[in-house]
Amino acid sequence: MSIIENKVAVVSGAGSGIGRAIAINYAKEGAKVVVADINDEHGEETVSLIKNSGGEAIFVKADSSKADENKKLVDAVVEKYGRLDIACNNAGMGGPAKPTGKYEPEEWDKVIALNLNGVFYACKYQLEQMEKNGGGSIINIASIHSQVAAPNSPAYTASKHAVVGLTKNIAAEYATKNIRCNAVGPGYIETPLLSANLDKAAQDAIASKSPINRLGKPEEIADLVTFLSSDKSSFTTGSYIIADGGYTAI
Ligand code: NAD
Repeated sequence: MSIIENKVAVVSGAGSGIGRAIAINYAKEGAKVVVADINDEHGEETVSLIKNSGGEAIFVKADSSKADENKKLVDAVVEKYGRLDIACNNAGMGGPAKPTGKYEPEEWDKVIALNLNGVFYACKYQLEQMEKNGGGSIINIASIHSQVAAPNSPAYTASKHAVVGLTKNIAAEYATKNIRCNAVGPGYIETPLLSANLDKAAQDAIASKSPINRLGKPEEIADLVTFLSSDKSSFTTGSYIIADGGYTAI
């Protein structure tokens, strides 16, 4: 028995990396998946990967940093599948690498607009719909930099810390409405975002610093997210769970 059979799920930033792995895993576990991304081509590619494996999915183009596009995304989910059970708010960016004093306000604003405001907008409209459904499960993708600094990425660190706070608030406010909300904090995972921000030597150095001695794979985050999305985690809400190969344990 698949653990999220017939549930309706939406994943933002599902055209690449961790989001794509989550969308594919949701479909494998029986969900109908709405793949959302700002990039049409990559989003459609994820849908094809799901359909080619016998799953059910559609693509909806949406810019997660815009409130109205988050609303339209939920509307599109409901129009197609009639409800919304699971939402994974994954779209995020690193931003330029420079120390806090050198960060330009507009660079800061861009990261916050997607990584923090975007998660709030997404949750706001998802919660409205989940209340109508009678329940749901929201997973916000945070980072290990929700608990430790990422030097030279101040907006990233601040936004990811804030996502954990928002997640706890939602959990506290909606628990009695049968809506759970959790955050997942990946360590360093092999994705296009990582290779855009760190060269091979930096990636090797990070891998060797973690007890597991390698980077993570998107599928290893997707398994945790799928568990938290399912009724298998029915007593878990307001949690921030890291998956980092022990990187922050030492
Ligand atoms: P990625 O760059 O591989 O994929 C991000 C996806 O988001 C892309 O498909 C991109 O088109 C989409 N996107 C970008 N801007 C968007 C917008 N405004 N609206 C909608 N979609 C947009 O990144 P990834 O490494 O898979 O990261 C996914 C999430 O995981 C991010 O929130 C990131 O902060 C987090 N994370 C990643 C790592 C890592 O090591 N890769 C570690 C910790 C946390």
